[in-house]
Amino acid sequence: MRAFGEPVCLATVLVGDDPASHVYVGKKHDASAEAGIDSRDHRYPSDTPESEILELIAELNADDDVDGILVQLPLPEHMDEAKVTRLVDPEKDVDGFHPLNAGRLFLGEPLYVPATPLGVMAMLAEYGVEPKGKEAVIIGRSEIVGKPMAMLLLAEHATVTICHSRTVDIASHARRADILVAAVGRPGLVTSDMVKPGATVIDVGVNRTEAGLVGDVDPAVFEVAGLMTPVPGGVGPMTIAMLLRNTLTAAQHRRSGVALPGS
Ligand code: NAP
Repeated sequence: MRAFGEPVCLATVLVGDDPASHVYVGKKHDASAEAGIDSRDHRYPSDTPESEILELIAELNADDDVDGILVQLPLPEHMDEAKVTRLVDPEKDVDGFHPLNAGRLFLGEPLYVPATPLGVMAMLAEYGVEPKGKEAVIIGRSEIVGKPMAMLLLAEHATVTICHSRTVDIASHARRADILVAAVGRPGLVTSDMVKPGATVIDVGVNRTEAGLVGDVDPAVFEVAGLMTPVPGGVGPMTIAMLLRNTLTAAQHRRSGVALPGS
């Protein structure tokens, strides 16, 4: 067991040559350095056998110097993402993807929560947007953004609607929203006519287009929304900040010698 006061350490695992993933992981290391968190950068070519990555994760799980482990997604097609991410020790699962951590969130006893929705909640709190009693509409139901976002807003007593690719008439749901979260990955999906005047609009989408990096929300929505996050510079930096927060939580948890509740 490491003592308090020793450096906190985040290990990242990146497989393949997806340029966006390399940029994201680079930013996580830069932010760690800025915050005084040690980081280890494990990068592998896309043809690496899955067994090699599983072995690496087992080593990182067993390494007492490592507090948090992050496996950057997506993994190459020949790898089973669920198998790889589920091997991460739930006590070092700073992404909050392990079923134990997802289950804790579902039960209203969150420990490690995926960083992107956690960052959205921090932003809402910072700007004084109280979810209690509000209509919250989330477009997107992924495990890493949409579903945990819904759980967090529900825990704060919002009335939550989740829309997805089979939802009929998304606009009619979106127009009810006091808090509208777009997490799809389609530029221009949310247009001004879908937004209630004065609503808080959170644009999680990141889309690389010829015009540069854009979100899922048409920029014209800035004229209708009460508050709206920009892309880039909105949810992205908050995601990184929350990853570091989760890493500190993991370090405190492990060093306090307390077993993860429920493990
Ligand atoms: P994902 O796993 O691909 O999920 C996309 C979701 O959008 C799915 O639930 C899908 O529905 C839904 N969807 C697809 N087309 C739709 C449509 N036409 N209408 C309504 N819903 C539709 O994506 P993700 O990982 O959640 O990421 C979503 C976006 O957020 C991406 O642009 C990603 O790059 C970005 N992102 C940003 C950050 C950040 O830090 N800023 C972090 C994570 C993700 P089905 O379930 O029915 O297929």
